[in-house]
Amino acid sequence: MKKILLSVLGLTLFLSCQEKATNATDKTAEAPKEVDYIVYEEYNGTEPTKPEETELYKPVPPTVTPAKNNAAPSDAIVLFNGTNLDQWTNAEEEPAPWIVEKEGFFSVKDKSGDIKTKKEFGSIQLHIEWRSPSEVLRDGQNRANSGVFLQDRYEIQVLDNNNNDTYVNGQVGSIYKQHIPLAKASVPTGEWNTYDVVYHAPVFNEDGNKIKSGTITLLHNGILVLDHVEIKGTTPYIGWPKNEAHGKAPIRLQDHGDNSRVSYRNIWVREL
Ligand code: MG
Repeated sequence: MKKILLSVLGLTLFLSCQEKATNATDKTAEAPKEVDYIVYEEYNGTEPTKPEETELYKPVPPTVTPAKNNAAPSDAIVLFNGTNLDQWTNAEEEPAPWIVEKEGFFSVKDKSGDIKTKKEFGSIQLHIEWRSPSEVLRDGQNRANSGVFLQDRYEIQVLDNNNNDTYVNGQVGSIYKQHIPLAKASVPTGEWNTYDVVYHAPVFNEDGNKIKSGTITLLHNGILVLDHVEIKGTTPYIGWPKNEAHGKAPIRLQDHGDNSRVSYRNIWVREL
């Protein structure tokens, strides 16, 4: 709907310029009729009388084939295919040191530091699966804490929150210290969770000022827990969110440094 409205605005401007141009030369000429936009203004508040007046045939969306068995769709970038961490590095851009398991997942290597994708991203759809270890160690923020940082800055919290309360804006499914999730939707400890994210990157102008906030929508195990929430800035442990200008940036996974033993698998991205 937003696109249609923007298109309407753009086309209205185009048509009004066009009208001026044609009026100057030929008062009987009509502005060109576009078939791929609905120009609501043309109706002057009246209702269309034919069904085809509200039917669009352009632009035709691309066909994307959904994969079976929870794999990546046909147009996705696969960031972990179950065998290696070739798409990832550590902070120094060296090979990612986390542990790839033969069962097709990888786990945080304690105190080895965060890992990040080699590729940089803007707005994306992201699918990622994670699991906390079935053996429960410690409490609160120190129980299977990891995180998915979008554009290297904005953390979606990963935590074993089952029978383990903590501050709610730091619980599983939160935007760390910014947004409380709408629900706690975790599967039992030791089972695989899914995060499906729709992320729109913030926009900065040439002066480095943010002119549009980023947004995050998160489905945790298919349950909506973040509904198009506004990112207020970075997600620090201590301090307020910051908004330094940035462009595309990696996805980063957190090593919390306390033997979290969180595992990940089946990670793919569709660029928006
Ligand atoms: Mg975390």
